[in-house]
Amino acid sequence: MKTLKEYVEDLKRVCRENELRITPQRLEVYKTIVRSTEHPSAEDILKKVRKRIPNISHDTVYRTLNWLVNNKLIFQVGVVNGVARYDGNLKFHFHYICDNCGTVGDIFHQDESFADFSTIVPRNFSVRNILLEIRGLCKDCKN
Ligand SMILES: [Zn+2]
Ligand SMILES: [Zn+2]
Repeated sequence: MKTLKEYVEDLKRVCRENELRITPQRLEVYKTIVRSTEHPSAEDILKKVRKRIPNISHDTVYRTLNWLVNNKLIFQVGVVNGVARYDGNLKFHFHYICDNCGTVGDIFHQDESFADFSTIVPRNFSVRNILLEIRGLCKDCKN
């Protein structure tokens, strides 16, 4: 597991490469995501960041999220109940998602061959990213 300090180093590096300043807003949005294991939505992130930066705008949070995704510092997990969710853990993993309450859980697979889809994609197709979502109902929602 990466430490928060190491994550922040990643952010600093990407900011340097893009000749951008590390604003407190950018830093706080990023930290909020990498500290969470709950795959927060933009609204969740906004609520948390506002505790530290009360006047941060909705727009700034959305713009920052897009910027972080485009720079591969975080990724979008998928859309749950119409809302995009975000993940700061870049280690290759899959997700299980409850369609009812929107819980998004991580699946880290030990067997690397499980994640080798090279044999089933068309020849000469170059794979950039693989997303696997297992959808269903969590224990609480099933009962
Ligand atoms: Zn559920
Ligand atoms: Zn995840």
